[in-house]
Amino acid sequence: MDSSLQSVDILISARWVVPVVPRDIIYENYSIAVLKNRVLDILPSDEAVTKYRADSVVELNEHVLIPGMINAHGHAAMTLLRGYADDLSLMDWLNKYIWPLETKWADFDFVKDGTTLAIAEMLRSGTTCFSELYFFPDAAAQAMLENKVRGQLCFPIVQFASAWAKDEDDYLHKGLQVHDDQRNNELIKVAFGPHSPYAVSDQLLHRVMVLSEELDIPVHLHLHETRQEVEEAVAQTGKRPLQRLADIGLLSPRLQAVHMTQITEQEIGVIAENSVHVIHCPESNLKLASGFCPVNQLLRSGVNVALGTDGAASNNDLDMFGEMKTAALMAKAVESDATVLDAHTVLRLATLNGAKAMGLEEQLGSLEKGKLADLVAVDLSHLESQPVYSPLSQLVYAHRGSRVSHVWVNGEILLDDGQFTHLNADPLREAVQQWRDKLRNQEPTQD
Ligand SMILES: [Zn+2]
Repeated sequence: MDSSLQSVDILISARWVVPVVPRDIIYENYSIAVLKNRVLDILPSDEAVTKYRADSVVELNEHVLIPGMINAHGHAAMTLLRGYADDLSLMDWLNKYIWPLETKWADFDFVKDGTTLAIAEMLRSGTTCFSELYFFPDAAAQAMLENKVRGQLCFPIVQFASAWAKDEDDYLHKGLQVHDDQRNNELIKVAFGPHSPYAVSDQLLHRVMVLSEELDIPVHLHLHETRQEVEEAVAQTGKRPLQRLADIGLLSPRLQAVHMTQITEQEIGVIAENSVHVIHCPESNLKLASGFCPVNQLLRSGVNVALGTDGAASNNDLDMFGEMKTAALMAKAVESDATVLDAHTVLRLATLNGAKAMGLEEQLGSLEKGKLADLVAVDLSHLESQPVYSPLSQLVYAHRGSRVSHVWVNGEILLDDGQFTHLNADPLREAVQQWRDKLRNQEPTQD
């Protein structure tokens, strides 16, 4: 054994590495050395073997290595409602189907099983960190911890009662308890999740603003999702929702505004000035016919835009590769310009920009020395990935998450050549079947 070699935990050699930072770069025949939970080095593979000795050596000769994807908006437990109610407007979908069903069924076990199902799907499709907003965040936290994934856990705040909390004060109180419970957890970061301006009072939004400043944690909410939302707000309050949030003092780099399909030039300026992050969920917006977020205009104005799938009930999958492709195609169509949102940019939305929205860009979102070792390998050896002129083009335009072969979170391998190393799929499958049998007979609520 050569004692001049430095010991590392893992040495991954890949045919291609897309580090995201530096921009627009693809390394060929490169290796990544991981020590504990961080990237120690990124270097040509022929140099790596002369420098490092690893406990675990992984050769990925026909694969591309990328940073773990960051799904910046979703409702993991709703994966149990995938395909339950489709082809409806947002308000009919929520009022007649989703909210009544959630009121009846969404308890601790529903959230834990649904979140575990979402985690399984996300790991298999290369997502290592996700933002979560749903009732029983304590159940989601347990699922995340058991399955060793990373995430931003937003605790919900709404005006109506649920099995988790009885009113706005109760939501806030219980949510702050979750924040306390997870304070020392290196994988989970807790955030405020007031559902939307129409579901939360001014008084509560004001308290969220004050507390989020004090605790310095993010605020994550649905905003300007549909034209109807904005028109009803104007009729009721005399203000567009963004203006209402501005008057309360909520516009800041801590705010993550999800959707933003209805947005004026002037509002883009306000968002940019206040460094508000926008979370773009193109497939959910398309499916619910909510509108088009002007992603390219926002990016041109210097706004940080990240990408999310939204819940599987309005998507209906959690595959960030599909979401990247849809985001790219939608932006090109909306702008009548095929050059906008190129493949490098859209990968950035799905990785580094998500990290930035969560305040984690120093730790996550790119393959750089010193960053946390959240890594994903995609196998490009299959016929449908051939020929490979550009691995990045394959990832964004020709690929689905099912070609993800390996996933590491925090330096630990969770998917090894397509097989879970930790998550136990059989009991999960059984629990999901049981939920389907219970939920399938629920009748929609009529007007
Ligand atoms: Zn949502």
